[in-house]
Amino acid sequence: MGSATALAQRINNLGTENAFAVSLAAAEWSSKGNRVFPFHLGDLNFTTPAHVGEALARAVTDGKTTYCPGAGILPLREALAADVGALRSMSIHPDQVVINPGGKPVITKFIQALVNPGEEVLYPTPGFPIYESQIEYYGCAPKPYRYVPTDTGFAVDLDFLRAQITPRTRALIFNDLHNPLGTEATNDERRAIAAMAVEHNLVVLSDEAYFETRYSGTSESVASLPGMAERTVILYTFSKKYAMTGWRLGAAITPMEIAPVFSRLNTNDESCTTHMVQYAGVAALTGPQDSVASMMSELRVRRDAAVDGLLAIPGVSVARPESTFYLFPDVTDTMTAMGISDLAEFAEKALHNTGVSFCTRRHFGRQQAWEDRSYIRLAYSGINAPEIAEGLEGMRAWIVSEIDARGAR
Ligand code: PLP
Repeated sequence: MGSATALAQRINNLGTENAFAVSLAAAEWSSKGNRVFPFHLGDLNFTTPAHVGEALARAVTDGKTTYCPGAGILPLREALAADVGALRSMSIHPDQVVINPGGKPVITKFIQALVNPGEEVLYPTPGFPIYESQIEYYGCAPKPYRYVPTDTGFAVDLDFLRAQITPRTRALIFNDLHNPLGTEATNDERRAIAAMAVEHNLVVLSDEAYFETRYSGTSESVASLPGMAERTVILYTFSKKYAMTGWRLGAAITPMEIAPVFSRLNTNDESCTTHMVQYAGVAALTGPQDSVASMMSELRVRRDAAVDGLLAIPGVSVARPESTFYLFPDVTDTMTAMGISDLAEFAEKALHNTGVSFCTRRHFGRQQAWEDRSYIRLAYSGINAPEIAEGLEGMRAWIVSEIDARGAR
């Protein structure tokens, strides 16, 4: 007889977000009395705007403590339809908006609702690791596509993506603006991707978690291109824009006929997203936006401190992205000069010698055969500018001394 707690087979296909393991290593190092410079987690050390918290308290007092509709409360769906639509030049009906506890569940529900086992899903790698995890968990076939480095960051390898499409390909996950690459698509790239989706009749998840996390210019959504609104689910989240990661509030904006299916999944999974939190979401969207603006200007200062600190390190190359709060430097030449070939070893040594904690490419989906460069990911959302400069200067000094010592041997 097998163990009573033997796991269901599908659990073998469930991945995770390994960045949390980096947090554990950093916490352990810190608990031994060491200083840590936290560049590893895409969380924010900013507080949620005060009026959002006040709206939550008011909602509790007003008795918004019951269940609410699975799709979410109408005022929030209306506010999101207006806001998301205006920023994308799209006409969105509130009935297309399904509130979720964060953006992440939209990934799961997209696959549950729209992709059969065995059908192929195109997804970016490196990319948000939950795509690969959920594709495999639901028995779908993972089809990773890649980005290539450019002078200004990274670009989707369109020819490669095109070559991945087969008659069994059902869905495309597109993350613009991108974690971990910190890159955004050009209009031409977006158009090419939309054309591929239309030509091959793909359903698209447009993960727009960072749509409004940008320092200049304006974002555009692939969903707004011809033929796309009727085949695209937009992942929206309050997490990054309003420093609300722990509130768990997001939404799926879906084609009209898909929304009831997402609501039914909500009813099965969590009944509804926390009722009173949804009123806080209304306040976030409709209230003053000044704290968002000041957070963005602080993030911009941090970006520059981080890019400047990285560029001072021998062998490192990195772009200065106009969006997200991530950097994805190429450290191949640095590691070679230090005599280190393994990314995990590089990260561990950096932590133990300098306190600088970061994720590596390995935390963003399985490494693929075509990859021949080594990258790390730095998030500057949870660390202040002076610590960014200090941490990276420590890293530079350590790396230079390692390279010098190696040269002297
Ligand atoms: N998509 C991307 C690309 C992300 O980086 C994240 C969070 O880091 C999410 C989705 C999910 O965020 P949340 O569930 O907090 O809305």
